[in-house]
Amino acid sequence: MKRQNVSILGATGSIGTNTLDVIGRNQDDFCVHALTANRNVRKLAEQCVQYEAPLAVIADPSLESELARTLREMGSKAEVLSGEAGLIEAAGIPDTDIVMAAIVGAAGLQPTFRAAQCGKKILLANKESLVIAGEVFVAEARRNQALILPVDSEHNAIFQALPQGFAEGLDAAGVEKIILTASGGPFLDMPASQLSQVSPDQACNHPNWRMGKKISVDSATLMNKGLEVIEARWLFNAHPDQIEVLVHPQSIVHSMVAYRDGSILAQMGTPDMRTPIAHALAWPRRIEAGVERLNLAQMNHLSFKEPDLERFPCLGLAFTAMRAGDSAPVTLNASNEVAVESFLRGQIGCDRIPHLVEQVMDSLNVTPVRNLDDVLGQDRLARQAATEYLAAMQ
Ligand code: NAD
Ligand code: MG
Repeated sequence: MKRQNVSILGATGSIGTNTLDVIGRNQDDFCVHALTANRNVRKLAEQCVQYEAPLAVIADPSLESELARTLREMGSKAEVLSGEAGLIEAAGIPDTDIVMAAIVGAAGLQPTFRAAQCGKKILLANKESLVIAGEVFVAEARRNQALILPVDSEHNAIFQALPQGFAEGLDAAGVEKIILTASGGPFLDMPASQLSQVSPDQACNHPNWRMGKKISVDSATLMNKGLEVIEARWLFNAHPDQIEVLVHPQSIVHSMVAYRDGSILAQMGTPDMRTPIAHALAWPRRIEAGVERLNLAQMNHLSFKEPDLERFPCLGLAFTAMRAGDSAPVTLNASNEVAVESFLRGQIGCDRIPHLVEQVMDSLNVTPVRNLDDVLGQDRLARQAATEYLAAMQ
């Protein structure tokens, strides 16, 4: 079989580097094409040299010449592009078979959408794209025969536990519900009164996973699970009432599918993103991912409980946004991105994140989302509103 070309949007991040690690273990099957980063010139250049990438893209246009110079100094002949246009071009390039969408936040939407327009096999880590553009994104992918394979560990687990043909409808496949597991993050058992005092470092110190800062904070507030609920709705064509969340602090069961006959299928493994990345990369085959094997005999217990929506209001806000539909998830996501950035800069406490999101959601009308422009327009509006509320908070 011909080696498949993989382009990685967000190559220098946590998902990006794990993807390169898996590709490195399977070089007979995969090779690297475009690699992109936001501002980390050195790391991007090193990756391009190590994996012999012919194309490098830096999102910040002011760093294009520095990237070109660094690559030359390192002996790489890679072509260099920059800016959002460069990211979009890389996502649609004809020589690429597979696009790993691993940019963080709404910034990933346009390049990922381009991959859908070009009929690529998309490995989707950038959940925010699907949260904000859900229906429009899925329709575009279908129209162009793009394949969306979930990389988020929960969604990858669900994908593995669903029967072929689930896209025709979960009811027809005998599925009763989808159960997303949540680790509960670093503050699972912390009293609500202490949540205002936690530092960004504490929030980013996840008990089971090493991830980028934004998703780590989202995991601490349970907004990550909220975004994942909306992501699941679009990936699996699920009705909002068919999606449930269970807290499972050990992160061994990555999610489950419950069937009409009482069966529950779960996917298990050690918490290592290289498993879902390898699964999506090679699907429907299986390849070596380099992960530690799960030792069931040494595991003393697995526990499950309902999430506490009072201490973690972000999860409830996400369910509300999903049910409201249209522009509501865009507002949820944009205000959350503004709030998380502000928390990471030390400007607001962690407990203020759900407050800000709720304020913005209450202040903006839900408007129809028919195309990408509607999504981008609402995203701008919500960021502006969030920034104004934030200024009033300080
Ligand atoms: P990260 O912060 O480690 O990496 C983000 C990548 O995107 C970097 O390469 C960065 O250079 C690039 N980037 C950041 N802002 C950009 C911008 N404005 N324009 C272009 N590029 C930009 O994040 P991560 O943890 O790898 O997460 C990436 C995505 O995958 C997120 O959507 C996250 O929710 C999702 N995800 C991550 C994990 C995980 O274990 N890390 C698990 C599931 C899903
Ligand atoms: Mg996840």
